Amino acid sequence: MSVYTQEQVNYLVEGKLDWETTMRMLSMPKDDDRFRMYLNALQSKVPWDDKIILPISLHLYVAQNKATKNWVTKCSCGHEFGDYRKNWKLEALVYVRDTPEAMHEVYPTLMAPDTNWQVYREYYCPECGTMHDVEAPTPWYPVIHEFEPDIEAFYNDWVHLPLPEKTN
Ligand SMILES: [Zn+2]
Repeated sequence: MSVYTQEQVNYLVEGKLDWETTMRMLSMPKDDDRFRMYLNALQSKVPWDDKIILPISLHLYVAQNKATKNWVTKCSCGHEFGDYRKNWKLEALVYVRDTPEAMHEVYPTLMAPDTNWQVYREYYCPECGTMHDVEAPTPWYPVIHEFEPDIEAFYNDWVHLPLPEKTN
């Protein structure tokens, strides 16, 4: 028996819940069906039918390419960033806010960080222009690759779903 209905999960996806809250809800135990319904809801919102394996952020997914069966990082518009284990940010368009003027486009003057110590790096899809991530590192810090989930463990131990085939 599932605690959440597909309709409620659809509402979650459509709604304004922040990413952290959504992922926390999804990883709560005792409701194996919830993640499957969440994937269904995400799948119904993208214009392609490659199977979504795991959402990375609001418009970015690990998905199984239907033709090759390779797992890739994929934008909701359909753009592929390549092998899911590689850092997709290296294939994204990057905008670096490293001057006070550029910072003040998005932050009120008094709240903007000192660009000698902190810059903002925004990562965009080269095809549709959706912003997928923002980093706020010190200026000399290398591109951050923070998302390397153990997808097999997640499927086997947490959501108890069969893992889609993989050729890469
Ligand atoms: Zn895109």
